[in-house]
Amino acid sequence: MAMVVAREWREIPGRYNLEGTRCGCCGKIFFPSRAFCPHCRRQSIGKMEPFPLKPTGEVYSFSIVHQSDGFNRRMLPYAVVFVKNDDSIMLAGQLVDVDLPTVKIGMRVRAVLRKLDEDGKAGIIHYAFKFVPAE
Ligand SMILES: [Zn+2]
Repeated sequence: MAMVVAREWREIPGRYNLEGTRCGCCGKIFFPSRAFCPHCRRQSIGKMEPFPLKPTGEVYSFSIVHQSDGFNRRMLPYAVVFVKNDDSIMLAGQLVDVDLPTVKIGMRVRAVLRKLDEDGKAGIIHYAFKFVPAE
């Protein structure tokens, strides 16, 4: 589980907004974005539209990560949540600003952009989505 999550996190920093795509044929929403719809296939080519996802949703499942060999070791332990957003799209990410024992299925959360790390030499700052509890 921890390895899967780590792999997903490495892919996320390039995504600066919660934008998916919607198939112009069947209306299905995809996140991450896709170039075509796997259901409509050829018919969907050229009909995929950007679709801004709602940042709010509720925790569908979660796990508390206690071990990691990766870059995020210093954050341990931390919560990784699968969130069903208010468009009914499943999103995965780290849940921060929360007391871990209070994390539970069904809790309302909101996606926020957070600084992930900073490459001082190159002057590059990486951002990623994280979830915080929503009021
Ligand atoms: Zn489609």
